[in-house]
Amino acid sequence: MKVAIIGAGLSGLICARELSSQHDVRLFDKARGVAGRMSTRRVDPDLRFDHGAQYFTARDPRFQAEVNAWIAAGVAAAWTGPIGVLQCGEISEPAGSPDRYVGVPAMNAPAKYLAEGQTVHLSQRIQTVARTDAGWSLTSERGETFGPFDGLVCTLPTAQAAELLRDVAPTYAAQVEQVTLNPCWATLVQFTQRLPLELDGAFVHDSPLSWIARDSSKPGRSAEQECWVLHATQAWSARHVEESPDVVAPQMLAALAAATGVSLPGVAYQTAHRWRYSIPPEPLSVGCLSDAEMHLAIGGDWCQQAKVEGAFLSGLALAETVVQWE
Ligand SMILES: Cc1cc2nc3c(=O)[nH]c(=O)nc-3n(C[C@H](O)[C@H](O)[C@H](O)COP(=O)(O)OP(=O)(O)OC[C@H]3O[C@@H](n4cnc5c(N)ncnc54)[C@H](O)[C@@H]3O)c2cc1C
Repeated sequence: MKVAIIGAGLSGLICARELSSQHDVRLFDKARGVAGRMSTRRVDPDLRFDHGAQYFTARDPRFQAEVNAWIAAGVAAAWTGPIGVLQCGEISEPAGSPDRYVGVPAMNAPAKYLAEGQTVHLSQRIQTVARTDAGWSLTSERGETFGPFDGLVCTLPTAQAAELLRDVAPTYAAQVEQVTLNPCWATLVQFTQRLPLELDGAFVHDSPLSWIARDSSKPGRSAEQECWVLHATQAWSARHVEESPDVVAPQMLAALAAATGVSLPGVAYQTAHRWRYSIPPEPLSVGCLSDAEMHLAIGGDWCQQAKVEGAFLSGLALAETVVQWE
């Protein structure tokens, strides 16, 4: 079968990897690189930030095996820095302390590794999909058409998936649209000196921030750079969603000072990134949605669990579905 996979985040890449020994698989992504919400913001060759997913945990043995393979390939490692809970300058222990892993040298490394040997069409925002007797065809924003394909796999955040499927699969589009993904503002900051905090990451309470991380403490990063990533809470992000990065970043830095109770060092670089679709608070836990007659499968983290492991498991479920179409 010729299979088109829209979305080269982890779920799409895992689906592609599972199918590609038996099928002719093409991936399409609107971004300039693979990884989706596991992306890394590259400011210059020496300055990078994990601005989306911060770390991943592995509970399912299939994902643990995958993570072990990534570690063996040198594209992931355990992040062992001290992680705590911060509340108005007070530090406490988090409730659980699972093994935490990160991509190495950056969060997008596992995705880049999975994309090796795959046919990935980047910078191709798919605007319409159509189904005829010949199969599925895709048209991108640039006006290029791809296909026909025997099967279509869609791994986009729900609003984007619903938009794409509304005309061809309205029932599925309506179902997908029920699952929302919240926005999340991320502020990326490089300080001129070490932030005097005895933690490398913290869940933050009673603050506009939900999470902070000393990004440069992760394995494979340059420890001298003192780079931090701050994530705002979903409620704060929603209230400020239409503001500009220039307005958001200083407010999040002020929240960092309040949460840590320390005076912040000088800032060498700062910016903010808006994730319009970040985390699905109520994922479906079904693996994927599919229609064998249409040869259509829809998935992503929101179909399983709101985390990297959920995207991986959904990617497996998508591939298991597609092989049954033969
Ligand atoms: C701020 C933030 C923090 C997070 N923190 C963590 C964490 O600490 N731990 C954890 O486990 N998880 C975390 N997550 C969640 C984790 O990143 C996701 O669960 C996982 O990466 C989702 O993968 P996916 O393949 O399902 O979707 P995505 O990674 O979103 O992939 C979808 C892809 O579709 C592409 N796309 C969208 N529309 C189109 C179109 N029309 N045409 C072509 N391509 C299109 C996008 O560019 C994207 O690459 C976080 C996410 C965010 C945003």
